[in-house]
Amino acid sequence: MSQNYSKLIKQAFPEPVVQLVMQAGNLARSMSYGIYLVGGAVRDLLLERKNEDIDIMIEGDAIGFAELLAQTLKTGITSYKKFGTATLKAGSYEIDFATCRSETYSRPGALPSVKPGDITADLFRRDFTINALALCIAPGKFGELIDLYNGRQDIENKLIRVLHSESFTDDATRIMRAIRYEQRLDFEIETKTAKLLTRDLDMLDRISGDRLRKEVSLWFGEPEPARIIHRADQLAVLQKLHRHLHWNYDVNEAFSSAGNHAKPASAVQLYYCLLVYNLKQSELDELLRRLNIHRGKLGDLCRQTINLKTRLGLMGDREIKRADIYSLLKDFSPPAIRANALYHTSRRMRAYLDLYLDKLRFTKTLLNGRDLVKMGIPEGRLIGAVLQDLLAAKLNGEVKTRLGEERLARSIISRLSDPGMDH
Ligand code: ATP
Repeated sequence: MSQNYSKLIKQAFPEPVVQLVMQAGNLARSMSYGIYLVGGAVRDLLLERKNEDIDIMIEGDAIGFAELLAQTLKTGITSYKKFGTATLKAGSYEIDFATCRSETYSRPGALPSVKPGDITADLFRRDFTINALALCIAPGKFGELIDLYNGRQDIENKLIRVLHSESFTDDATRIMRAIRYEQRLDFEIETKTAKLLTRDLDMLDRISGDRLRKEVSLWFGEPEPARIIHRADQLAVLQKLHRHLHWNYDVNEAFSSAGNHAKPASAVQLYYCLLVYNLKQSELDELLRRLNIHRGKLGDLCRQTINLKTRLGLMGDREIKRADIYSLLKDFSPPAIRANALYHTSRRMRAYLDLYLDKLRFTKTLLNGRDLVKMGIPEGRLIGAVLQDLLAAKLNGEVKTRLGEERLARSIISRLSDPGMDH
């Protein structure tokens, strides 16, 4: 039974977005172009989930079309000539326009060759049935669903299903996407698709490091990466990234708690640190190379995580003064420290790491270099040494006031300038 979704479109999106979509439909008809809402926007519309990224496919030149639409609506537009796409904004919504296209793969793992096509060809190139739905937005057909692969039924049955048996061979990143959607939507990878996924696991070896990393980062941008890691382990996908990556109770605990500790902007970095924590140095190097992050900042954070783990391992469970905690950790970045705090087995060590992250790293002396110069200390290395000693005293709670710092500074200077002292 065919159903019209025009009411749902009008309910799901704010008025300015609905207006833009309808105007786009009118313009497309005047140019004799087919025009469709596609992909995640349609999926989430049927699921009644909010999605502010709207993809519109045009059977015709999308950039030219979007520029004309922007002119009519007197609104701004960003065009990406290289990709043949253009984006208009309506409040917090981003509306992307692209030309319908067909894709063919010359060999597994290669990027597809692309040529313009109609909506049928465009839907065939998509990853899963739930993402291969289109809603016509041209007047007269507004809200008509195009469902060539029973995507609506799969949404109802909560299933992730590929469109054909060579889907993962064509593009193995879909293996990682399958897990991401499954866990995000609380769906299940359909039985035959799961078998194909297992059959084609080795195709992941042909995916470039950059594309692989992009998918891992998308995992880590999801609300619950802990679930994704668990599932990726079950399906042996995690081991395709590195054979020694595994899920276990501790990994689960660390990943599950991480969300409480990191702002969304730095959460992805923290999840990478958690991912690599259980690897040895040499294994880490292999993984960083595989993901092509051995030279960048992310790779550095991962290395810091393992370095710190080793350093902490040598320290055992002994009591440490606050100033020593500070000097142990001051050269490590917060995500690397947080990862260690989330995994460390000693309660005392965890508390030290938390203390540093939440408090010690923000500690500042009340006196600065200029104050010391005013007190008569000659400019140069001595100032740095005095400030360091002042900070240590402040961290350990030995000085609390400005007067206290001044007194201490004087005594440090007299100690350091005492000819009998070895400095
Ligand atoms: P999300 O909510 O994750 O953004 P989305 O469906 O909008 O979901 P995008 O990654 O923005 O996902 O991709 C848009 C659409 O392009 C998808 O819905 C899917 O139809 C198609 N697509 C993206 N990547 C692939 C791929 N690797 N293979 C096939 N189709 C893909």
